Amino acid sequence: MATVNTVLGPIDSKDLGIALMHEHVLVGFAGVYRDYPELLGTDPLERAVNELKQAKEGGIDTIVDATTTDLGRDIEMIAEASRRSGVNIVAVSGWWLDIPMFFRGASVEQLTEVFVREVEEGISGTNIKAGILKAASDYGEVTPQAQVVLRAVGRAHLKTGVPIMLHSYSPGQVGRQQLAILQEEGVSPGRVKMDHSNDTTDIEYLTWLLEQGCYLGLDRYPGRGVSPRARTNTMKALIDAGRADRLCPSHDRSAISFIGPNWEQMEEERRRYNPHGFLYIKEAVFGQLRDMGVSEDVISGLCVRGPRNFLEGV
Ligand SMILES: [Zn+2]
Repeated sequence: MATVNTVLGPIDSKDLGIALMHEHVLVGFAGVYRDYPELLGTDPLERAVNELKQAKEGGIDTIVDATTTDLGRDIEMIAEASRRSGVNIVAVSGWWLDIPMFFRGASVEQLTEVFVREVEEGISGTNIKAGILKAASDYGEVTPQAQVVLRAVGRAHLKTGVPIMLHSYSPGQVGRQQLAILQEEGVSPGRVKMDHSNDTTDIEYLTWLLEQGCYLGLDRYPGRGVSPRARTNTMKALIDAGRADRLCPSHDRSAISFIGPNWEQMEEERRRYNPHGFLYIKEAVFGQLRDMGVSEDVISGLCVRGPRNFLEGV
C-alpha cells in the first residue's frame, strides 16, 4: 500500500480501483481554460464532467490527467471535474514537448525545484499536489532541451518518490535513450512507465523495456497509425508472456480537446470514431481479449494491478 496524491487529496493505492493511466480532462495550451474559454465551445467543464460521469457509471474509478502546464493544465478546473464526477484524478508535474525560448536557459536544478514543489507543496498556488512526474520525447531523439527536463524529472523523482511517465515515440525506440539518461541520474527503470508503447507492434522492443523493469503504457486507443486490433494483439502477446501486471491500458483521450467554431462538428466526428469515450477499453477491447481466450481474472486486473504496482513502486 502507498499513498497517492489525487487532486482532491491523498488516497490509499488500494482504493484506486480501475484506473486509466493516461487521459486528459482538457488538452490545449498553457492558460487556455482561464484566458480563452470562449474558444472551447459551450460549457467545457460541464461537457468534461458529463464524459467523466459516464466513465464513472461504466466502472472507471481513477484517471491520470497527463496534462502538463504547457498542455493547458488548469488544476482547479481538474479538481472541480473530479469533485463533480466522482472520478479520482491524479495530476502530473513536468513538461511536454515544446520547450519555449525563455525556458532554454533553465538549468536542471531550477526545473527540479519547481517539479518538486508541485509534488510536495502544490500546483498554481493551491495545495493540490502532483502524483506523477512526466517528461516527453518524440520522433528522432531526446533533444538537448528535452534532456534538461528529463534529468530534472529524474531528480525530482529521487527527491519525492513519485513515479515517472514518459511520452515516447515507440516506432523509433526513443525509450532506449530516455531510459539511459534516467539511469545516469540514478533512476530505477522500475519506477518508469513508457507511454504510447502500443504505437508500435515490435514485441521485441517492448519485451526489452519490460526486461529493464519498465511499465508499459498501452495508452492509445483506438489510436492512429496502428489499428485497434493490432494494438489488442500486442496486448495479448504481452499477457501471454506473463506481463499483465506491468501493463497500463488507457486511451490518451481528452474530454475537451477542440478549439474553434467547428467544435460541435468535430466532437460529433470524434463520437463516431469512438462512441465509448473513456470506456472504449472496457467495452470494446476487453471483449476482444475474452474472445482471444484471456481469462476473466487477467482481464479484470488489467487496469487495476499494473496501475497500482506502478504507483506503489512494486
Ligand atoms: Zn496524452
